[in-house]
Amino acid sequence: MSDYIASALSRDTHFRIFAVDATETVREAQRRHDTWSAASAALGRTLVATALLAASGLKNRDDMLTVRIKGDGPVGSIITDGTEIGTVRGYVQEPHVNLPLNLVGKIDVARAVGKHGMLAVTKDIGIGEPFTGQVPLVSGELAEDFTYYLAKSEQIPAAVGLSVFVNADNSVQVAGGFMLQALPGADDAELAALEANVKTLPLVSELLKSGLTPEQIIQRIAGDAPVQLLDTQSLRFACNCSKAHFGDIMATLPHEQLQEMIDEDGGAETTCKFCGNQYHYSVADLKALIARHE
Ligand SMILES: [Zn+2]
Repeated sequence: MSDYIASALSRDTHFRIFAVDATETVREAQRRHDTWSAASAALGRTLVATALLAASGLKNRDDMLTVRIKGDGPVGSIITDGTEIGTVRGYVQEPHVNLPLNLVGKIDVARAVGKHGMLAVTKDIGIGEPFTGQVPLVSGELAEDFTYYLAKSEQIPAAVGLSVFVNADNSVQVAGGFMLQALPGADDAELAALEANVKTLPLVSELLKSGLTPEQIIQRIAGDAPVQLLDTQSLRFACNCSKAHFGDIMATLPHEQLQEMIDEDGGAETTCKFCGNQYHYSVADLKALIARHE
């Protein structure tokens, strides 16, 4: 089954709830970057959060959102982006990170990411300069960090769950998450009631493993509060890179450097950081890039 994001609005319009099954998307990221368990969980949780933030925060077709996490843990930086049309992509600086399980028997994402550092979200909505909100990491487990980001940078009281289950062979069994956002008009008692539902909610990975759909996860979070389900949106890992795109970047290099690639290497290779795709440039390709200057 393919990935999708479900969303709902409470009947009193005081809350929005999003839930996503991102299993295939995170599997694709794991395969493309050959991430090991701790890196898979850290990158996977970030991709899930990116999908939820894009679904809740972008409006128009070309809008884009970028997440940068820089902690002091062994995975280094995590960079992801997401679009309004339900695509995400991303990478982690050091994909080969495995760590002992934490005290509750889970992948130690906080140790992998680090407990000190920053989380930044940039929104490019095509009008004016892109807007960046940045907060310090408060946990490193990431769900808490995105919750803190929403409260601090966007003034949205929220609850976020992000969950990736990695098999012993490093493959991803399930991945998903939810985001509950309070809208203007919501009162503290309502928020407390839904937060109590969230607190008793099993991990999203457990819910997905037991066969629950994103819509059913939303119902679990809403509890007794009546909600109206809105349109769903498909989600997939996709990168917009191309040989022509990297060619444009290489064409800006000095002639001598391009000539060196011809003389010494007989061509050039480039790899897209976001998706791992490799592009080869033959001598003829490189000569064509040089000719653009002339
Ligand atoms: Zn790419």
